Amino acid sequence: MTMTQSTEIDRAAPLPRHRSVGVRVGTGKGAVTVGSDAPIVVQSMTNTDTADVASTVAQVAALARAGSEMVRITVDRDEAARAVPHIKDRLDQMGVHVPLVGDFHYIGHKLLADHPACAEALAKYRINPGNVGFKDKKDRQFSAIVEQAIKHDKAVRIGANWGSLDQELLTRMMDENARSPNPVDMRAVTREALVCSAIWSAERAEELGLARNRIILSAKVSAVQDLIAVYRTLAQRSDYALHLGLTEAGMGSKGIVASSAAMGILLQQGIGDTIRVSLTPEPGGDRTLEVQVAQELLQTMGFRTFVPLVAACPGCGRTTSTVFQELAQEIQSYIRDSMPGWRATYPGVEGLNVAVMGCIVNGPGESKHADIGISLPGTGEAPAAPVFIDGQKAMTLRGAGIAAEFKTIVTDYIEKRFGAARV
Ligand code: SF4
Repeated sequence: MTMTQSTEIDRAAPLPRHRSVGVRVGTGKGAVTVGSDAPIVVQSMTNTDTADVASTVAQVAALARAGSEMVRITVDRDEAARAVPHIKDRLDQMGVHVPLVGDFHYIGHKLLADHPACAEALAKYRINPGNVGFKDKKDRQFSAIVEQAIKHDKAVRIGANWGSLDQELLTRMMDENARSPNPVDMRAVTREALVCSAIWSAERAEELGLARNRIILSAKVSAVQDLIAVYRTLAQRSDYALHLGLTEAGMGSKGIVASSAAMGILLQQGIGDTIRVSLTPEPGGDRTLEVQVAQELLQTMGFRTFVPLVAACPGCGRTTSTVFQELAQEIQSYIRDSMPGWRATYPGVEGLNVAVMGCIVNGPGESKHADIGISLPGTGEAPAAPVFIDGQKAMTLRGAGIAAEFKTIVTDYIEKRFGAARV
């Protein structure tokens, strides 16, 4: 390998993290730090009616168990605000101690003042500077929410959003741009307005007495290139902790690809202290998918480890049967389903690498790179599946019971390697 090649490889490392002030969210068990040197935090949001305590508790618990380290809930009216302390109590009784974030729009100042138990139960308040109030009410209502955060010692996310951008600010900036001798395009003005809305609101919160280490910023847009531009500017201009997310990312693969593309680039550039993947669920779909995608994004990029990774080849004409697809899926589901228990029983198991490969072409090689791997027989190959453990061929499986036997081998390996770390 030449020096030039080596330098190119070195350049693939992520850039150092944007220097941000760490923000503690929550207290006691489940509290997390966002920003500074803390690991990038995964968060999610419910889509239940918060006033429906049972449904909201169930969904928050599911999101937390899937690995969400903060969960945001809508607080849109008195009934929802009244429900919040009950939701928190029930979650505590269930042993689910995830910090709850209240999402406020239009009347947050009133709800927090009228429902002190709600203000206390939440770990963080999300304020949208674009709809906190209009004209002369804007500063008064924004100030009222910030004062509640100071009174209850809560963190605040100032979350500007492309779809609800402060129209007075945008109009003013558009007018200034029109008068400028070098006007820029309207999209650039809108991006600048979004950044200014977030940063100026944070500075106003500090003027009101909210500590810098209680403020997280976000400025979400729905287009990938705009999101990248906006967050690069935010990171250049401030050291507030940053919540990253592509808003209205969409459904299914479109939402996953768009979110991963935008956030992957920013994370590689060291930008982002907490992330949410905003996916529109399929009808009847599982809300926890957004947590899984966020975790997989962070893990595949090497920022954090959550669950053992299963490397599987895509299959091709050399695999005419679906045996290896079924085995890959079975192993992946088995590992994910087992993780809640394994996490406590087998410290470090989340770093395990498993390979399930379809034939002899890449199978043995890839399996040797994994901690434990299996290379299934492709079309025309002898019906034998060599298993590799720690880079060495350990055994060969045959017959209809390969899947069950391989699962047992994986479980034994985990017990042997990670069980020893148990206290
Ligand atoms: S490992 Fe074999 S089966 Fe899998 S994609 Fe490569 S050639 Fe095809």
